[in-house]
Amino acid sequence: MSCDFVSLALSGVQHLKPYQPGKPIKELERELGISNSLKLASNENPLGPSPFAVEALKSELTAIAYYPDGNGFALKKALADKLDVAEAAITLGNGSNEILELVARTFLAPGREVIFSEHAFAVYPIVTQAVGATAQISAANSIDHAMPYGHDLDAMQALINDKTRVIFVANPNNPTGTWLRSDELENFIQGVPENIIVVIDEAYFEYVEEDEYPDSLQWVSRYPNIIVTRTFSKIYGLAGLRIGYSISSPEVADLLNRVRQPFNTNSLAQAGAVAALADNNHVLSSVKMNREGLAQLQSGFAEMGLSWIPSVANFISVNLNQPGLPVYQKLLHEGVIVRPVDNYGLPDYLRITVGRSEQNERVIQALKKVIGK
Ligand SMILES: *Cc1c(COP(=O)(O)O)cnc(C)c1O
Repeated sequence: MSCDFVSLALSGVQHLKPYQPGKPIKELERELGISNSLKLASNENPLGPSPFAVEALKSELTAIAYYPDGNGFALKKALADKLDVAEAAITLGNGSNEILELVARTFLAPGREVIFSEHAFAVYPIVTQAVGATAQISAANSIDHAMPYGHDLDAMQALINDKTRVIFVANPNNPTGTWLRSDELENFIQGVPENIIVVIDEAYFEYVEEDEYPDSLQWVSRYPNIIVTRTFSKIYGLAGLRIGYSISSPEVADLLNRVRQPFNTNSLAQAGAVAALADNNHVLSSVKMNREGLAQLQSGFAEMGLSWIPSVANFISVNLNQPGLPVYQKLLHEGVIVRPVDNYGLPDYLRITVGRSEQNERVIQALKKVIGK
């Protein structure tokens, strides 16, 4: 008789569904025996990393026999200078996903509650459940709202009670691309008791061009219960290195620092991130390409008579008016990988990462073909 190991796991873990990543190109090509496929499924930068970051990685390679700097001195210094924050406010993570997990391990436990929105980023429920805490999920804005499927901050506020310990706010949110204005988000934060941690997840911060998008770092000294998370995985094109960070009050950073592994971010990631941070031109060209790509995808959708959720990030979710999964499967056979979002409560949508112009054209043509438009 073999042991029922599931019954040995923590109760949250017993019912946990693993995160579903975008399908890797190599996996698709192996499965279908095809080549030349295109992945627009994980919101990676189609321009790749800054060439300066690649150079920095090469020079760091010879030093990989040594442990990395566990405190990430050089990267924290570069971030502190660039963002005008104290080094003690910064926590480095193995991707910003790790920061989300550190928050859960630091502040959550069975009996404690977490609030996040319907259609919000999939890692919030995972880190909540893994530590046995309870998720309270607020209804999102309706489809006819000015920000369809976006976070409804009043609905989130209404779920706060004595057990609430953490609130996750994605701005912009993935997979909807919806965002919150500075005035509404600050108003919300003001209404949250200061013993509740508010995580503002800004993985796509650098892409957003809206005037009313918040400068949330200026809030950190005023509201010491907020944690702003950002990443090098998206606009900086370093997703494979796994490096992200948070800005918080030094007290909160000190707590996160107690929980993290001593060498949670590796030496290549730290060196690549320092170099990437200095290459502002790469960021600017990425923003421009993204703006043009969003417009290109939208006009392709419009030609097909499809609607979409307005996005300020580097992806867009399109409404197919039919189940997305079979369309996703057919696109795979065209060598195009996008992202089904049925697991986000959006079964008729597919999320498409904005690519380079010719990549966007390819995904539009493939979509036209498989849905018969
Ligand atoms: C991609 C993403 C992240 C972070 O990913 P990392 O690679 O772990 O930094 C965080 N939040 C949202 C909403 C994302 O889409």
